[in-house]
Amino acid sequence: MIKFTEKAPYSPVEYLYDVEEILYKGKSKFQEIMVITNPYFGRMLILDDVVQITERDEFFYHEMLTHVVMYAQSNPKKVIVIGGGDGGVVREVLKHKSVEKVYFVEIDEDVINVSRKFFPTVSCGMDDPRVEIKIMDGADFIKKIKTPEIDAIIIDSTDIIGFARSLFTKEFFTSVKNCLTHEGMFVTHTESMHFHKDMVIELQEALKEVFPLVDLYSAPIATYPGNWWVFAVATNGASPREIKRNFDINTKYYSDEIHQQAFITKGLYEKLMQRKLQW
Ligand code: SAM
Repeated sequence: MIKFTEKAPYSPVEYLYDVEEILYKGKSKFQEIMVITNPYFGRMLILDDVVQITERDEFFYHEMLTHVVMYAQSNPKKVIVIGGGDGGVVREVLKHKSVEKVYFVEIDEDVINVSRKFFPTVSCGMDDPRVEIKIMDGADFIKKIKTPEIDAIIIDSTDIIGFARSLFTKEFFTSVKNCLTHEGMFVTHTESMHFHKDMVIELQEALKEVFPLVDLYSAPIATYPGNWWVFAVATNGASPREIKRNFDINTKYYSDEIHQQAFITKGLYEKLMQRKLQW
């Protein structure tokens, strides 16, 4: 059987996958896009040799990236999803009945088209009338919003290199802060607690320069190097740890119990930020 070796930019290990079939391989304006099938993970979306999602475990990441900030608010109506061209986060956001509008801002239209074709169970929300697709850099989209009208801004980008860098600057965070409502929340993936501690700390510090409240929670992701994946949340003061509504949607992993357990404990967080963790 042919093998695919992942080349994740910040990983000290390389994952090797059996490839049953290459279903698609092409080059967009921004990146190389590949869809393969693996006997365990099913279909896998790979961008520039980095695994983005797999049919088998995508829900861990998509549910955890979405529902923590959504359930920590009483009535989220307007949401911006940046990146996430596969549609997984959009699908999860739409499960919330209060949602009236989702701006889905993806820089690479080809990723959306490939996902529509090869990942129908992930891309299934894209044609919902509440969704407006914008093909552009998420940082440019956010800059144009001048009033605090957005309830959740969710970053589902590729790793922090190349064109995804615009989503991790102080200037971007400041624009995000200015368009969030009083209860509004920003969330972004921030790599792994095992392999990328310094990146996790630096991102927390950068967010703290802009937002009054910054926090960190985690989820187990089988296919992302380091597996103990963390998510940075930033708000204008509202606590992301507090669940504001009854849990009333179908999920495979996220629940109100998981929400409460997912946050990094105070002691661990302090040690992390004081650079005292001994690994
Ligand atoms: N869940 C995946 C992961 O963490 O590996 C991410 C999946 S999603 C396909 C990532 C998407 O982010 C890509 O399709 C990429 O084109 C998009 N992206 C990266 N930088 C972007 C930017 N500045 N603005 C909008 N979309 C961006």
